Amino acid sequence: MLQRTHVQHVQKGLVSDASRLLGLEGLAVQRIESDAFGGRVVHVVTADETASACPGCGVLSVTLKGRACSRPRDIPYGTTRLRLIWHKRRWRCKEQLCGRASFTESLPGVRARSRLTTRFRAGLGCAVAEQQRCVSEAAAHYGASWPIVHDAFVEHVRVPLAAPLPQVLVLGMDETRRGKPVWAQDLHTKRWVLVRVGGTPGSSTPQAPAACSPRSRAAAALPLSRG
Ligand SMILES: [Zn+2]
Repeated sequence: MLQRTHVQHVQKGLVSDASRLLGLEGLAVQRIESDAFGGRVVHVVTADETASACPGCGVLSVTLKGRACSRPRDIPYGTTRLRLIWHKRRWRCKEQLCGRASFTESLPGVRARSRLTTRFRAGLGCAVAEQQRCVSEAAAHYGASWPIVHDAFVEHVRVPLAAPLPQVLVLGMDETRRGKPVWAQDLHTKRWVLVRVGGTPGSSTPQAPAACSPRSRAAAALPLSRG
């Protein structure tokens, strides 16, 4: 093995206040510019040596091959558009047993070949899965395409849906009234009062199923909707 497999130090000097404000782990803000449309262009560089680890063998490369730029989309900041430009490096892998000749830096916050930051992708999935927003609305709000938002949603719910369903403790139903209510006018007060909630004459007043919480109703509905 020719190269290191662990990090000796992290370039902490690159972590400025702007980098902390941006909050993208492993990336440091180099400079910020304004574009012709009033937006901001943030140039970032790699501040984590683990980004130079070969994805094939895990060895940290020290042989620079070249440089490249990527423009990952990130979550919105403020009212003006913010664009990221990541000035990354390309490395050669010198390990004889590794089949990877070269690779480009990647980080958990910005995966290889991804056009979105990990937190932006998670935000898109969360908007649809947990905020009751449709794919089209979320796509329009974040300025992303429909397929990208849908893929983020699928990724967001893949793990929860693969987990075993919770045990059904109470089986509830949405319809809690049967038949039509019967009203009658009081002879003395001339006001209409509810005589019977529903059901057929002579039957007892229908009662709602045993107290069902929204959680129990959701648990009961899951097997029905997915079966
Ligand atoms: Zn390698």
